[in-house]
Amino acid sequence: MFDVIVVGARCAGSPTAMLLARAGHRVLLLDRSGRGTDTLSTHVIHQPGVAALARWGLLDRIRATGCPPIERVLYRVADIRLEGCSGGVDGHEAAYAPRRHLLDPVLADAAAEAGAEYRTRCTVTGLLRDDAGRVCGVRAKHRGREFTEHARLVIGADGMRSTVASLCEAPKVQETPRQTCAYYSYWDHESSRLELHERPGGWVASVPTNGRKTLVLTYFPQSSYEEVRADAEKAYLEQIRVTAPAVYEELHGSTRSERLRGTGHQENFFRQATGPGWVLVGDAGHHKDSITARGITDAFVQAESLTEHIGGAPADETSLDEALADFARDRDILMAESYRAALSAARLEIHPKRLSLLRAVQSDPGLTSTYFDIFAGIRPATALYTPQLLARL
Ligand SMILES: Cc1cc2nc3c(=O)[nH]c(=O)nc-3n(C[C@H](O)[C@H](O)[C@H](O)COP(=O)(O)OP(=O)(O)OC[C@H]3O[C@@H](n4cnc5c(N)ncnc54)[C@H](O)[C@@H]3O)c2cc1C
Repeated sequence: MFDVIVVGARCAGSPTAMLLARAGHRVLLLDRSGRGTDTLSTHVIHQPGVAALARWGLLDRIRATGCPPIERVLYRVADIRLEGCSGGVDGHEAAYAPRRHLLDPVLADAAAEAGAEYRTRCTVTGLLRDDAGRVCGVRAKHRGREFTEHARLVIGADGMRSTVASLCEAPKVQETPRQTCAYYSYWDHESSRLELHERPGGWVASVPTNGRKTLVLTYFPQSSYEEVRADAEKAYLEQIRVTAPAVYEELHGSTRSERLRGTGHQENFFRQATGPGWVLVGDAGHHKDSITARGITDAFVQAESLTEHIGGAPADETSLDEALADFARDRDILMAESYRAALSAARLEIHPKRLSLLRAVQSDPGLTSTYFDIFAGIRPATALYTPQLLARL
């Protein structure tokens, strides 16, 4: 009998398991994939996520993978060029972009070190319920053999297509149609800053990552998904050439070291977060377009919030349900700005008013830093509207 079973051992599940185990809970962490496998995702971790890794004592391990700090950002749109750095969080001014096959095992190992029992290649297929219908465990398969495990709480950290959410029939309580599709790959080219290039209908980012490589990712309108995926290689290069000509030039002569990966499943939703004996964390409960690169950081934020609400001592069912309801309420508040920002960027539209605002921002290093803080999710969009900016406008 465990206190908690966490289904999914990546950005949401592993930190949740780690923090609950550190708080004294008996935790089982299950994942259907193996340790250190890759996943379909790029991997920019903004400063709030970096600060969380530092709080958990894991930032040095991420650095030790050879992942370079990203201290400067260049953002280009129309005639505008913003270059600078974010003010940071808790003294952490750099972002990092560790490859997922390196980041995810650091997180899972930390959960195991904290005392969680971590089992790979275990696929959860069903939930156990008590006589009152309360979830009290899981049914799962490991190498074809079925097993069951009991716990007072099952946490679904199993991603956008969450099995736990569907077994609990957790409805989507807010949903916005898909807006983009994304394709990315890696280049044998060393870069020193995060670059963001935007034009109507196009978005390109280039990101320094492990192995002295540069991750280059491209976004297209969802309406062009069928056309893009018909010849994704061509569309990817053409998007870089048209939206980020300087990046295209830089890559000229370097080789692409990995295959192209992409998705049109840029869902935007909030699911009901909790019910009797279960709760969802990370993409399982809330997913948004990846264009603002907030999913990993937001998974960390939710993991910390959930574990703070659950607390250290095993609670009776009523107190536990109250704590989970409080987490659900806080999740919606904590994620609202991030959701709004993702939907806004994912429209891939550029309004003249925004360009006027950016022209005012670009001539002021303080406002530029605030702009990059907003991009990183450190401050809300309203932080830009200082008397300084209004005077310039
Ligand atoms: C193209 C793209 C680019 C992105 N770029 C960024 C970025 O730069 N920065 C950023 O912060 N975010 C980015 N994201 C978002 C980010 O990938 C997710 O928000 C993040 O991975 C969510 O973590 P998670 O732990 O909730 O879910 P996941 O990473 O999806 O992990 C879920 C885990 O659950 C396991 N699982 C699923 N079902 C079961 C089951 N039945 N039994 C057992 N295990 C199960 C899976 O094997 C998986 O390991 C991107 C996403 C995409 C698609």
